[in-house]
Amino acid sequence: MASSSPRPARPLLSAVVPFLNEAANLPRLITELEQVLSPLGLEWELVLVDDGSRDDGLAVAKQELQQRPGLRATLLSLSRNFGKEAALTAGLEAARGDVVVPLDADLQDPPELIAPMLEQWRQGFEVVYAVRRRRAGESPTKRLTAFGFYRLMGRLSSTAIPADTGDFRLMDRCVVDALAQLPERSRFMKGLFAWVGFRQTAIHYDRDARQGGASGWTYWKLWNFALDGITSFSRVPLQVLSGGGLCIAGLALLYGAWMVLRTLVFGIDLPGYASLMTAVLFLGGLQLIGLGVLGEYLGRVFEEVKRRPLYLVRERWEQPASPNLSMGQS
Ligand code: UDP
Ligand code: MG
Repeated sequence: MASSSPRPARPLLSAVVPFLNEAANLPRLITELEQVLSPLGLEWELVLVDDGSRDDGLAVAKQELQQRPGLRATLLSLSRNFGKEAALTAGLEAARGDVVVPLDADLQDPPELIAPMLEQWRQGFEVVYAVRRRRAGESPTKRLTAFGFYRLMGRLSSTAIPADTGDFRLMDRCVVDALAQLPERSRFMKGLFAWVGFRQTAIHYDRDARQGGASGWTYWKLWNFALDGITSFSRVPLQVLSGGGLCIAGLALLYGAWMVLRTLVFGIDLPGYASLMTAVLFLGGLQLIGLGVLGEYLGRVFEEVKRRPLYLVRERWEQPASPNLSMGQS
């Protein structure tokens, strides 16, 4: 893999924003990005990915871009809602920057952090990820499940996935190219970001509540997201199955031997309905859970072998940089 090349003095930065029903937030996001990025003395482009929004987000995005003819931009509209991970992948593939920063459209990832991230990148880091110190405006359940999930992932996965870290990060071109080489359909981005490695460092921030609109994540989506994460980065559930099976079989063998012995010594006595039922139901339950876990993995294998594209683009819209305006005024 490319080792850290000398940093260009005037890098091109791509801000990649997947959005779903964020019409209310897009104008503010673009304004803030402009304010934060233009004094930095670099060139930048905006990559917007409309993940099948049902509001007029696409029209709003187009209008905002047209109002800024100097802004270099790519707008992708996916053919339907493919989910944030797929939309983000689409955006990363469209980005041409020397450095790439994925951001949420709801301003929960503060653009002000890009400057300190760039600083770290100039020091030689290839990935600078933002760690959330505090999460405002999220329900206790969401915080608790997020906390539990990150800790569980930490235990289960052999790839160290930084806790409390979203997709908000600054990546060097070599990292984005590495991500593009990963062929899997199930894009658990946090995990993939960690898996590719490179020199990584963290900066910390307090995460604000989303600006407007509603989170596109339902608990059902989050549950599947968690399962995706665990099954693509850990085989521990399968090992628990075989380990648990072995233990229970061992105990059953001992118990069986004891019963044979007891029958030989004391003769046959029939009572035992309760223990029999308990054993049958307990083992039946365990087997169903086992099948379920196998099914989760098998289902994902099925998704992978189908090799369907990750996303489909309905419309691609480019706004070239106009040479006199794009150089930014530093
Ligand atoms: N998003 C998306 N597709 C989806 C769900 C969300 O592109 O299916 C976008 C959303 O518009 C936002 C980002 O992903 O820009 C993060 O979503 P959200 O704020 O709902 O997540 P949270 O901050 O609650 O984790
Ligand atoms: Mg959000």
